[in-house]
Amino acid sequence: MPVEHAAIIGAGIAGLTAALALAKRGISSDIFEQAPDLAEVGAGLQLSPNASRVLAELGVLDGLTKLWLEPQSIRLISGSSLRELAAVPAGNFARNRWGAPYGVLHRKTLQKALLDAVVANPLCSLHLGIRFESDLPQGRRPADVTIGADGVWSRLRQAIPDAPAPRFSGNVAFRFTLAEAEAPGFLNRTSVSALLGSSAHMVCYPLKETDGFNMVAITAGNIAPQAWLGQPTQAQQELLQSRFRRWHPAISGLLTGRKDITFWPLFETTVGKWQDGNKTVLIGDAAHAMMPFAAQGAAMAIEDAFELSAFLATRPVGEAIALFERHRMPRIAKLRQRGAFNRFAYHASGPIRLGRDIVLSLKPPQSLAADLDWIYGYRAIG
Ligand SMILES: Cc1cc2nc3c(=O)[nH]c(=O)nc-3n(C[C@H](O)[C@H](O)[C@H](O)COP(=O)(O)OP(=O)(O)OC[C@H]3O[C@@H](n4cnc5c(N)ncnc54)[C@H](O)[C@@H]3O)c2cc1C
Repeated sequence: MPVEHAAIIGAGIAGLTAALALAKRGISSDIFEQAPDLAEVGAGLQLSPNASRVLAELGVLDGLTKLWLEPQSIRLISGSSLRELAAVPAGNFARNRWGAPYGVLHRKTLQKALLDAVVANPLCSLHLGIRFESDLPQGRRPADVTIGADGVWSRLRQAIPDAPAPRFSGNVAFRFTLAEAEAPGFLNRTSVSALLGSSAHMVCYPLKETDGFNMVAITAGNIAPQAWLGQPTQAQQELLQSRFRRWHPAISGLLTGRKDITFWPLFETTVGKWQDGNKTVLIGDAAHAMMPFAAQGAAMAIEDAFELSAFLATRPVGEAIALFERHRMPRIAKLRQRGAFNRFAYHASGPIRLGRDIVLSLKPPQSLAADLDWIYGYRAIG
């Protein structure tokens, strides 16, 4: 018998989307979230058409498009010369080519839109300040399926033999925001700019909600990841300065003396089982936290939630979660490969960098877009 009621652990992007997608199919849920309120965590997010298409199906996209920015392009720029190497068209081009919009927004904007829809839906019961440890908390009724949407440090994983495990990726992110008035001219106000340099890259885009730019620098770093979301220590500051020392002074100058930079060691998960063959399944970062080199982590959480719900609505639970795992794993593996390739290309130096720059400059926009069709043109089953 298909599922009638679900327990969801975690009210992040994956958990809230799952609750809405299940409700759309008439399935009720209890969502258990450890945080006492859903505070404003995270920073900017790029949401590609494969994800925004799902949000449209769930009725939350219209509200978001009023708040987000639809960039005209994703520009790849040399970090040493500030020369534009290539630009993937977005804006109306994205709507036409991939059938849904590409937007940039603050994570809290997306989470609030999902949260408002969940709270308004009588099939969804959200329980804040309830942390799952080992036994399922009391919900409104017994659950036919338990969905672990509890992020990279998932606790529900312990219920699944051979589940993925978290590991430090060897990469660190530095984040800060730049007020519109402070932003240098090379930061285009209508585009996402990815500045590429040896061993590091920096992604910058305007956030309409904050009147400033979201800035994220990602670099290799073996500094013991003792801090999570903290102010950088002296060693972390030095790492950041050294990585950007040979970049164009307009970029390295942006980092000098800043007090508002936060440091994020980046964790990913190993490959493992996402379901127990019975009634427990992982989605989003709990199943497959990945590096942000393809900017697809939240998008995959959204696709996961939507497709899992479709399977749960039409099949017995054991069959549905096994099918979910079989169906989603190849796409996630391919995205991880794309992320690894992007890391190699973005952080290249010497002759590889020269080759990269030539190849990128010769690629027409249509060809750059065609390389992304399998990611952005994907239509989640639902
Ligand atoms: C630097 C950086 C840039 C990124 N940029 C992008 C981007 O541009 N586009 C994109 O698509 N993705 C991006 N991502 C990835 C994206 O942020 C994540 O993949 C996404 O937020 C994962 O969502 P989630 O719901 O699976 O997990 P989370 O957001 O981690 O949510 C998990 C939730 O579960 C709760 N929880 C945890 N444990 C328990 C427990 N035991 N009991 C109850 N509740 C619990 C947590 O409090 C939390 O609310 C980026 C990531 C990083 C680090």
